[in-house]
Amino acid sequence: MPLATPKLNAFPVFLRVEGEAVAIVGGGEQALAKARLLGQSSAVLRIIADAPEAELLSFITATGATHIAAAYHAAHLEGVVMVFAASGDEALDLRVVADARRLGIPVNAVDRPELCDFFTPALVNRAPVAIAIGTEGAGPVLAQMLRTRIDRMLSPSLGPLAALAASFRGTAEKLLPKGNARRRFWSDFFGGAPARAMEVGEPARAHDAAVGLLASNAPVSGHIALVGAGPGAEDLLTLRAHRLLMEADVIVYDALVPEAIVAMGRRDAERLPVGKRKGCHTKSQAEINALLIELGRDGKRVVRLKSGDPLVFGRAGEEMAALRDAGIAYEVVPGVTAAFAAAADFELPLTLRGVSSSMVFTTGHDLKGNSLPDWAKLAISGATVAVYMGRSVAAEVAGRLIEAGLSPDTAVAVVENASLAQRRRFHGTLADLPSLEARADLSGPVMTIIGDAVAGANFERSEPLAVHRHEGAAQAAAEGVEQ
Ligand code: SAH
Repeated sequence: MPLATPKLNAFPVFLRVEGEAVAIVGGGEQALAKARLLGQSSAVLRIIADAPEAELLSFITATGATHIAAAYHAAHLEGVVMVFAASGDEALDLRVVADARRLGIPVNAVDRPELCDFFTPALVNRAPVAIAIGTEGAGPVLAQMLRTRIDRMLSPSLGPLAALAASFRGTAEKLLPKGNARRRFWSDFFGGAPARAMEVGEPARAHDAAVGLLASNAPVSGHIALVGAGPGAEDLLTLRAHRLLMEADVIVYDALVPEAIVAMGRRDAERLPVGKRKGCHTKSQAEINALLIELGRDGKRVVRLKSGDPLVFGRAGEEMAALRDAGIAYEVVPGVTAAFAAAADFELPLTLRGVSSSMVFTTGHDLKGNSLPDWAKLAISGATVAVYMGRSVAAEVAGRLIEAGLSPDTAVAVVENASLAQRRRFHGTLADLPSLEARADLSGPVMTIIGDAVAGANFERSEPLAVHRHEGAAQAAAEGVEQ
């Protein structure tokens, strides 16, 4: 049996304050805090303070609030819709509370909940949308934490979008019959093209898209966001990625994306794994492309989650081409690529003044042919090289680079599970790199960084690669271990 929800002792309501007077009694910090809070509304502030502090005074000047520069008197409360007793002087606050009660005006006394008729919430302001957070006795720290969390979840464009919605209310009600058609319009409005245009700061296009939605009864087409999930740590996800995840109807994700990130999606979102995971079916790229197109045609909002950055070894090029050909709208949300996470874990400067001024992102798989790829030449001229999917070709990479003229002593940093708690760091030289192939103890993704800039890293928390050089080479030969 679920527990009965406890009752609220303070019920949230929104009080109409446009053009109404609100009184704040006090000249110090408490009065200023309330003035700032109320200043987010269109109420006319009446600040009663005979000796306001400088900051409050500049607030009054800057906002045009009414200032009554006199000792408090009950007559100052004339015509106000609410009162704040915020003088910091207990006796004065008590007088203000008593006067307000006598005049029938709701009153709030700072830090005296037992004297308050109402409480002020922690506020997430996306005017005209407001989210008010009340925690009753649990205290302001909790309220502020929740405020920050909710604030992060909501797009800054929510306010203008809501204002646009308000301007469409009347027309939508006239043109669309109540029920499904109207509901559908609003869900497309807030989840479709108008919202997306507003998100990228194009209000005129948002308006046109809303007009288009009203005019056509055509089914909405979906939208695919190719989203970088980052290297693995949940808090390396971007705020935009997080928001899109929470809005998605369907989440299509690769094997390297941790469950914890997929779980950040809406509870009722459909979750479709498409990448390699031990013992699970892997979809081919063509099947993934077809799936995304089908979901788009069904009008779904899809988040296609890829590890790291979607445009770095993520096959996003093929997916974007397929979506373009099919006429499905899509966008790309960048993520923290594995090379950056690995460098951060190693405190490794990827560019270093006077040492390295360029970077190569490579897989190392292009080394199989006879000719040396261009990036090898760049490595020799001092670029920092980040090798993705490089474990199974570590010996090849090292051998070819040495053969091409890079010193076997060039510094190498290797990170398994970059950004995650179970990360492991290894350091060594190009000559040690082949041992990586045989490391059966590395089951997570591995990033290898090669170059002179690596010498600037912090090796306090890393293990030497060289320990495994000999046994590694022997094992590799025996097993041909692949990542
Ligand atoms: N789009 C991804 C790369 C996908 S290719 C990105 O931008 O990071 C997969 C390869 O990325 C892995 O073989 C590994 O080399 C690297 N990789 C991904 N996540 C990693 C992590 N947490 N730690 C180390 N390497 C990682």
